Amino acid sequence: MQTNVKEIIEITEGATKILVPCGSMDEKVPPRDPAFFNPMAKLNRDFSIIAYSAFWKNFQGPKIFLDGLSGLGARGLRVANEIKKTDKVICNDVNPSAIKLCEKSAAINNLQNFQTSENEVCKFFNAYSTKNERGSIIDLDPFGSPTKYLDCAIRATMHGGLLSATATDLQVLHGLFNMACKRRYSGVPVKTKYANEIALRLILGCICLVAYRLDIQIVPLFVDNAMHYYRTYVKILNRPAQEDNIGYILHCKLCGHRSIEKNQSFSCELCNSKIDIAGPLWIGKLFDKEFVKTMLEEIPNYTVSNRCEKTLQKCLLESDMPGTYFTLDEIASKMKVAPIGLEKIIKKLEMAGFLASQTSLNPTGFRTNCKINQICELFAN
Ligand SMILES: [Zn+2]
Repeated sequence: MQTNVKEIIEITEGATKILVPCGSMDEKVPPRDPAFFNPMAKLNRDFSIIAYSAFWKNFQGPKIFLDGLSGLGARGLRVANEIKKTDKVICNDVNPSAIKLCEKSAAINNLQNFQTSENEVCKFFNAYSTKNERGSIIDLDPFGSPTKYLDCAIRATMHGGLLSATATDLQVLHGLFNMACKRRYSGVPVKTKYANEIALRLILGCICLVAYRLDIQIVPLFVDNAMHYYRTYVKILNRPAQEDNIGYILHCKLCGHRSIEKNQSFSCELCNSKIDIAGPLWIGKLFDKEFVKTMLEEIPNYTVSNRCEKTLQKCLLESDMPGTYFTLDEIASKMKVAPIGLEKIIKKLEMAGFLASQTSLNPTGFRTNCKINQICELFAN
């Protein structure tokens, strides 16, 4: 018997019951009609729950969550139902069938702190952009790029609040369409083994540039990349930034040297050949160590994937490390030897007096302040 893909079924994610179209659970690409739901984004939502709970733990103001592009409300429903300290959740979407489903799910979970809104995303955020109306956590989870909505999302975030924005326009962020990337993110990538870090820094760079215009400062707390999405979590402060964190990643395709710099330069400091330039992008920290620690402490309070803790342990290790990472196969192919184990590499670097850690952004990646020529020397012995 064929099931109707539009038929509505009840699933449980975390500790929350969510009504979703049957088709979204078994079709390869979840349908947008009657409402979009991506079961594969559960891990992404698990991280959100832990991050929001960690953020509100030490937050004095009202705990109000605004989701501008909620779809059928999976994230907002989970916030309202699972994070006990939540004062109010408002889920907004332009799709009336999504909002209808969202309201039914809220009723099933018996939520008292939950509202919906049916509006265009910027009109919704604008309605919450005046003093005493803003949210303390704002969520922006579009199809593709978040850049069109950043102005109004930032304006709807209260001083000291948190903005989380997702991007799924991977081809643009990975260097397939540099002109499109420049238009959207004001910067361009370079194709490297650490493409996901460049993508995250381009997104943060764009958020930072929009914030600069509004005399607002951003402080990244956490970033997350899995499969098809990038997600950034930044604190919003209503005061001009004191430090400029916009710059460039210089990458030499010949020798593999890379560095993060305030200014552009045109030749490699190691081999003197022409260097590729990614940016302008965010050159400051990607993780706030104390915030990641609080996220780890919050895990036992929730039903989330085991992968959350493993990933966060790596984030903790890399939070104080230099930007950009190397991968095992990158070094192995350069050295023309079989890849060495990750732990062995890290130990060897530390023994030689360098900083070294794993990275949450790549299972075979490592961060270090050791330059590529010295890494190769170390492994030749
Ligand atoms: Zn070079």
